[in-house]
Amino acid sequence: MSVPILITDDDRFKVFSGRGRTGLSNLGNTCFMNTILQCLCKTYDFTEYMLCGKKDYRDNLYKRDITRKPAKTEIENIQKHLVVCWEKLLFAMYDLNTVVGPRSIHNCIQALSIKMGRIEFVGHGQKDAEEFYGFLMEQLHLGLAHKINFTISGTAKNKIDEMAIEAAKSWKAFFGNEYSEIVKLFYGQEYSLITCPKCGFESGTYQPMNRINIPVPDMGMSRESVSLKDCLQIYSEGETLDKENKWICEGCKESVCAKKRLSIWRKPKNLVIHLKRFTKEGRKINTTVDFPLIGLSIKDYCIGYGIDSSKYDLYAIANHTGGMGGGHYYAYCRDYDNNWREYNDSSINTLCSTGDSEERLSSILKKNTAYLLFYRIRN
Ligand SMILES: [Zn+2]
Repeated sequence: MSVPILITDDDRFKVFSGRGRTGLSNLGNTCFMNTILQCLCKTYDFTEYMLCGKKDYRDNLYKRDITRKPAKTEIENIQKHLVVCWEKLLFAMYDLNTVVGPRSIHNCIQALSIKMGRIEFVGHGQKDAEEFYGFLMEQLHLGLAHKINFTISGTAKNKIDEMAIEAAKSWKAFFGNEYSEIVKLFYGQEYSLITCPKCGFESGTYQPMNRINIPVPDMGMSRESVSLKDCLQIYSEGETLDKENKWICEGCKESVCAKKRLSIWRKPKNLVIHLKRFTKEGRKINTTVDFPLIGLSIKDYCIGYGIDSSKYDLYAIANHTGGMGGGHYYAYCRDYDNNWREYNDSSINTLCSTGDSEERLSSILKKNTAYLLFYRIRN
């Protein structure tokens, strides 16, 4: 069968509309994996890269990248195999419209986690979908990674220029030798600014990220909801590091409880927001977060040149019901036909349509089970 060649939005509509509605069978406590795979399946720019070609490359686009850097170790071999398994699974999800078992992906994850000592993913117990998302993206990224030419040029004329050069150096250090489509589609850069409370010395660092971790206030029994904006505000205000995490200040050379603030330097195309519902003490926070379905702006939490009015639209939600260490995961996904559907292991239910009233959409989609939010930047 030939690979679809996508040129126009009409081509995209033909490939995606009415398809990709396939349940995933549970292989024994694998709802965390199924939920993440369904959310990724609806990340159309990534799916297009996996399943489609272009005018100048008439085979699956990913195949051009996967061979650029040959595997040297067994781990690298499995990482490449994982990418191929993801293509095969996506193909089945888009073409069969039946229930499929993601057995080969599960096998790759098992093999990788054993070889890499990531024991949290070994075996059949319930896992954390957020940690799994992070692990899966890292492995897919490494399976596709190759060297790119990355030059940093220009001279700094102001503080923002200086920051841009620092940020670019950090990006190059992380991805210059290992760049992939995953980085292009899912990664951004978080800027962390640490300030000394004694002398005011500041130290900024740039970290690549494929999700942002947002605190959720515990409203206890009041059942009051909070807005995503409130949570993002807490995220950017940061925290004062506790006594166990004292920081040696380069300014006054003292060991201090420094203040750490976070902001976003480089915005990802697909922004995954992790609502931190599980506390260090082993509790789950069940506060309802009111998040926008369309038009999310993060400009108040950004720093640098990237502060513009770009908006994000929600396309998938990973939900978790139940308590810590157990419970169940399922996804809500916005399909190409503008219907929201629930993807719960092998079963699929239509929930609502983007044309419905805001009230109806909110009452159906914004539950206190929402755990990971998948947003796509508007072109
Ligand atoms: Zn100091």
